[in-house]
Amino acid sequence: MTHDSHPPAAIFHGWILDTPDDPFTGGVLRAEQCALAVDDGVITFRGSLADAQNRHPGAEVIGVDGLLLPGFVDTHVHYPQPRIIGGLGMPLLEWLDRCALPEEARMADLAYAQAVAGEFVGGLIGAGTTTALVFGSHYAAATDALFAAAYGKGLRMTAGLVVADQELRADLHTTPERAACDAAGLIEAWHGTGKLRYAVTPRFALSASPDLLDSCLATLEGTPDVFFTSHVNENPAEVAVVAALFPEASSYSDVYDRHGLLGPRSLLAHNVHPTDAELARLAASGTAVAHCPSSNSSLGSGLFPLRRHVEAGVRVSLGSDVGAGTGFSHFKEGLQAYFHQQLQPDGLALGPAHLLHLATRAGALALGHADVGHLGVGAAFDAIEVAPPSGSALHSILCHAGSADRALAGVFANGTSADINRVWMGGVLSHARACQ
Ligand SMILES: [Zn+2]
Repeated sequence: MTHDSHPPAAIFHGWILDTPDDPFTGGVLRAEQCALAVDDGVITFRGSLADAQNRHPGAEVIGVDGLLLPGFVDTHVHYPQPRIIGGLGMPLLEWLDRCALPEEARMADLAYAQAVAGEFVGGLIGAGTTTALVFGSHYAAATDALFAAAYGKGLRMTAGLVVADQELRADLHTTPERAACDAAGLIEAWHGTGKLRYAVTPRFALSASPDLLDSCLATLEGTPDVFFTSHVNENPAEVAVVAALFPEASSYSDVYDRHGLLGPRSLLAHNVHPTDAELARLAASGTAVAHCPSSNSSLGSGLFPLRRHVEAGVRVSLGSDVGAGTGFSHFKEGLQAYFHQQLQPDGLALGPAHLLHLATRAGALALGHADVGHLGVGAAFDAIEVAPPSGSALHSILCHAGSADRALAGVFANGTSADINRVWMGGVLSHARACQ
């Protein structure tokens, strides 16, 4: 079955965990042993199994082993980089020069890019990620290959051509005119097709001239529902270079703000080193921030000031930042987010509901997907079955957990992609673990 066909009505029954109400503002984990009726990929009923069967006689009943969670939402991840995960021991700018950018340049070869696109989309889905905001390639043909791969698998994806016209390497440069032309072609081909949307994506302010940023704004304003994403305040050396390149800007994020690029359809990755004024402006503009904890740890970028973001009212979601991040799994990113807070004197104590929210619903809302990231009536049935193999540590943890909170904490502490048995996107079974 492809994602274009309509799956038959089905009833899913078992332990279902989600966070429809934000734990950062008083919500708690919703954990119920119940049934979901799914029609045409959307949850139309939530309640007892008997009631679900009465309303949907003849629907297939699918029992859930372990726990059913919403599919993960990865709000910052790089398509060209799955093969370079593990470039340890370098800070950001050196890692870009030595690891990331040479691989980005290889994407000029379309056959290479197509192979990476398959690995990338498969890596996301295999890790339980069903929605993603993706940095594409610097090359339009390679970015087109990404959209084709995501479309083929039914991934809910927002992505765009990555653009730069200064610093970095010359073979990754474009021009403001070419950036606009390439974006127009990709928007025409993919924006609004299936579950795909376009994102205007300057790599970071460091590599963008004022004219290129103006071209980005023109593209953003030219098509409804186009998104904006970039990097900000990741590393102190990077922040210093941006300050030198843009002396008229009051801060790193002000470079984007002065070009009209902040707003409710904007999401910036990292923001490890913001000023209070920047946080206030991000909150006021509705701009969201993708927290990428394993990347920040791996590159030594710093500990994420989550409390300052939350207290300022900035929306925060989670990103794997593959390949500076160390893998696709949001189990790991959730745990690393928890570690980041534990290691700071002013850290925000996070419980399992916070981690699940950051990994699912917070990202969906940051991307404007009201009906994604939870498992209530009206939501898309994007879900993962966490069912660790018998005999594994996590299986033992779940068998002996005294509460749903404890079970979920165990999943974030110990879970890996290998513990995900099945993944559904829009009600369609999209991934199943190989038989044991
Ligand atoms: Zn990144």
